[in-house]
Amino acid sequence: MISLSNVHKSYAMGSSKLHVLKGIDLHIAHGEFVSIMGSSGSGKSTLLNILGILDNYDEGTYHLNGKLIKNMSEKQAAQLRNEMLGFVFQSFNLISFKNAMENVALPLYYQGVNRKKRNKIALEYLDKMGLLPWANHLPSEMSGGQKQRVAIARSLISKPKIIFADEPTGALDSATSFEVMDILQDINKEGITLIIVTHEHDIAAMTQKIIRLHDGKIAEILENGELKDWKHQYKRELEIA
Ligand code: ADP
Ligand code: MG
Repeated sequence: MISLSNVHKSYAMGSSKLHVLKGIDLHIAHGEFVSIMGSSGSGKSTLLNILGILDNYDEGTYHLNGKLIKNMSEKQAAQLRNEMLGFVFQSFNLISFKNAMENVALPLYYQGVNRKKRNKIALEYLDKMGLLPWANHLPSEMSGGQKQRVAIARSLISKPKIIFADEPTGALDSATSFEVMDILQDINKEGITLIIVTHEHDIAAMTQKIIRLHDGKIAEILENGELKDWKHQYKRELEIA
């Protein structure tokens, strides 16, 4: 479903460049639940933004469902995102003056679905998240965990194939983090591919595959706790030696 080969990404820093991703090779199959780990600044968000077609890369190839994603216009990228991708963010990114139902319904508004219909569907998704009684509440009236569940409902409403979440539990206490991870696991069991960024080991341990970035490269891939890709590990050992 996702296939990256030798992907490089640099940011311009005045007259110099900051080389953030230094040759990423990565395959993610349909239905996987993957976490991307690594220290702050290791390129996790940069990688996630490229996978989510929110940002471009400089070198290499990215195929999504067999389609080469490269130098796309913003319009093409937006269309692909609307068709098959969902997003969840650390800071929830809810619209503060819209209630929970309206926030969840927003992607359908952009698809031109009329208000009555989109609100009805939004209520169904809020119900799935156990938030029906909160439909008419503003984000400011809700807890962090509730806000993240609203954001998850919003990401689901356009029936994405893949959901990307950048530190989805980063702003939550640990009990609430595990609740949110439970929800994400349920969503994954329904067949949606999930790719999250986290720097918390216990959160990553709730996913099937852990990809650890180190200095812009994949240092190791663990699958169900086992070292999956000996090649990356070996390369890393050579680098350390
Ligand atoms: P992480 O999510 O692992 O903390 P990021 O992918 O956000 O790391 O960032 C990797 C590096 O790239 C950091 O040094 C960061 O400061 C830099 N960076 C990220 N986004 C930009 C940008 N838009 N312009 C310039 N530098 C950036
Ligand atoms: Mg980040």
